[in-house]
Amino acid sequence: VRNILEESVQKFGEVKAVKWLNKKEISERSYCKIMENAASVRKGLLAEGFEGKHIALIGTSSVEWIESYLGIITGCTTAVPLDAALPCEDLVDLINRSDCAALFLSPKHRPYLEVFLANCPGLQKVWMLQEEVEDVPEKVYSINELRNIGNNASKDAACPDAEDIATIIFTSGTTGKSKGVMLTQKNLASNVEAVKISAEPGTVMLSVLPIHHAFCLVMDWLKGFSQGATLCINDSLLHMVRNMSIFKPDIMLMVPMMIETIYKRLAASDPAIPKQVLAEKVFGGKLHTIFTGGAHLDPYYIEYFAQYGIQILEGYGMSECSPVISNNTPENNKPGSIGKPLENVEVRFENGEILVRGTSVMKGYYQMPKETQETLTDGWLHTGDKGYMDEDGYLFINGRVKNLIILSNGENVSPEEIENKLALNPLVGEVIVTGEKNGLTARIYPEQAVVEAKALDAESVKGLLQAFLDKYNQNQPTYRQITGLIVRKNPFIRSTTKKIKR
Ligand code: ATP
Ligand code: MG
Repeated sequence: VRNILEESVQKFGEVKAVKWLNKKEISERSYCKIMENAASVRKGLLAEGFEGKHIALIGTSSVEWIESYLGIITGCTTAVPLDAALPCEDLVDLINRSDCAALFLSPKHRPYLEVFLANCPGLQKVWMLQEEVEDVPEKVYSINELRNIGNNASKDAACPDAEDIATIIFTSGTTGKSKGVMLTQKNLASNVEAVKISAEPGTVMLSVLPIHHAFCLVMDWLKGFSQGATLCINDSLLHMVRNMSIFKPDIMLMVPMMIETIYKRLAASDPAIPKQVLAEKVFGGKLHTIFTGGAHLDPYYIEYFAQYGIQILEGYGMSECSPVISNNTPENNKPGSIGKPLENVEVRFENGEILVRGTSVMKGYYQMPKETQETLTDGWLHTGDKGYMDEDGYLFINGRVKNLIILSNGENVSPEEIENKLALNPLVGEVIVTGEKNGLTARIYPEQAVVEAKALDAESVKGLLQAFLDKYNQNQPTYRQITGLIVRKNPFIRSTTKKIKR
């Protein structure tokens, strides 16, 4: 990773690498400056005796966060980015479980500081991601103090080896306890190289994904930096639409839920407003490509966004694969699929489960030998996802192995597969399929606008949906078991069913 970044400094030196809003003004830093700051952090960590240690980062996206992350992974240390939105006690658990010896903490999380110091015995130092600190406990310093130590140190850390653990990334914990995925330098670098996102200098990317996640770190930041793109910071999801109109991105990476947010803005506007005017207002007017992944995307959005000249390319990945496994590209795009596997990823299927092997597959889960052994066999990673490949080589995903519902007649049913199909009906906003004692239950939440237009009371909505389901069932006899139907009084607006804990 260090070689990739140093090459970018050589090639793009004074190009703007990062832009962010600072009290309504746009601030910016060049490739040279970003890597210079990262090097100060790296040298500081070495001088402070953290060689070989794990270093946690907690905070929403900021330029200091990114520079610190780059400083950690380009030297002799391992970065452990944690989800800043987690409750304090969960963060304590993750800091302890990943054996972190130090922590970078955003000023917003200052209230957690005393709790961390009291409950994380391994923490030797904390650096606040701000220029100066006042009234802080022992062991706590500002990032500037660390950088100054680094700047005055004569020794720089050696370039890490390909097999060194660059980062430990915790999985989302959708199917159980969140696991610390160990990713090597080679894992990250090979994913950056294999994924095709073209973002040459002059290309603006606005990074809205959660910063601790592999999709954000590797595909927004490392991939963007490898090509000379300008990355803009979004510090809160609440500011996404505002920041799109300010930074006018060309390319963005999103999870489907974010695509839905923009869709709602567009769909709720006055149809008399010309598309170009609306596009400028809602997303800056330049956006031409959205890369999405992390959850199923209703192909309806692909068609809808095409009207605005935006191509949505869906991909598939997981923390364990650094993270991309397959993706659609402008040349090879089949809506509804998750694209073709990357060139350096091998895919095979075992009882419908997707197995993958290749240079971006993790080394294992940190201090979870049993889970590692269950997941990795002879280099093959059991993804836990069910899927298949069509005759053209495109992958499709249709559920998670762990969510399989085994019916009394012995049939194995994947709830997501049914949900995805039901969700294609315009009457259906959100649908959740669960196994219950009579078989399966589908809970369907209609989309508000449609309900208002077509039926005024819950009974009629229920009738409409029942009619839909009956019709559906005639065509799909396997799903005859869909028995119950519950319609909430307060209908949902279309939103994703991802990450529902069953
Ligand atoms: P845990 O492993 O702790 O249960 P998680 O699997 O949700 O959590 P992540 O690594 O954040 O943690 O998510 C990866 C998962 O997201 C994949 O295994 C897959 O189930 C799902 N996923 C990713 N991309 C897509 C996609 N395009 N369509 C459907 N599901 C997807
Ligand atoms: Mg997983």
